[in-house]
Amino acid sequence: MFLGCLSGPRVIPEHLRQPMLLANFFNRSCLCGRHLKSGLICSDCLNGIIKNTSKFGRCFYCGRPSVHNLSHSHCLNRRRFLGGEVMFDYGQLTKRLVINLKYGLVRNKITVVDFLVKKWFHKHNHPLISSWRSQPSIFIPVASHKTRLNWRGFDLPTTICQSLSSLTKIPTIPALKRNRPTRLRLGLSRKQRFKNLFTVFRLGTEIKHQVSRVNNAILVDDVVTTGATLTAAAWPLTRFLPYVKLWFVCFTRQS
Ligand SMILES: [Zn+2]
Ligand SMILES: [Zn+2]
Repeated sequence: MFLGCLSGPRVIPEHLRQPMLLANFFNRSCLCGRHLKSGLICSDCLNGIIKNTSKFGRCFYCGRPSVHNLSHSHCLNRRRFLGGEVMFDYGQLTKRLVINLKYGLVRNKITVVDFLVKKWFHKHNHPLISSWRSQPSIFIPVASHKTRLNWRGFDLPTTICQSLSSLTKIPTIPALKRNRPTRLRLGLSRKQRFKNLFTVFRLGTEIKHQVSRVNNAILVDDVVTTGATLTAAAWPLTRFLPYVKLWFVCFTRQS
């Protein structure tokens, strides 16, 4: 009898196969592993990421082009996200950067994120951000589940929020708590899947006396793929703050 068939070869995740992860501690670029005299990211990689910012937006719901990432009015139909900002286009470099930041042993992750957010902020005009600044607004990070947070010791959405807050003077309020990590659950019916999605997040108690006069709530996430996590995060806010305008900011959006 062949006993090895059930265990099979062990599949190592792609991000752990990349050789420069351990080397990142020793004055190397956090992306390509090149030796650096100073700084945290080599200029080629940095330019590659910064260049990867398109001025052309897309609708959050249908993915078709739209001005400033605003949602089309015909796409909204009781949906909540009016639009948002996507910092960097999704490409090989951006993908690798996010993986290294989330799972790799990169030095000074907060400094790297802060640096990139500043570069992005000063590169273009951001009419949406200007309009948020002119009204009472808050940034809300779409927080990781605490088991993942403890393992990583670093939360990318929260770090992005803090950088944006220091640039825009819009306060960050960690209002959302995650009940459990979101992941695809196969074998559930459509109704169960919806229920599963809408119970992922809950509101923290502190939000109730901090948001009474807020006009805009901006959810901040790292990678948006289908938009399911943002939709789940919007759910408790929709119930508690039905009149607040909901927006999003994400580091990158996978197409
Ligand atoms: Zn590089
Ligand atoms: Zn649309």
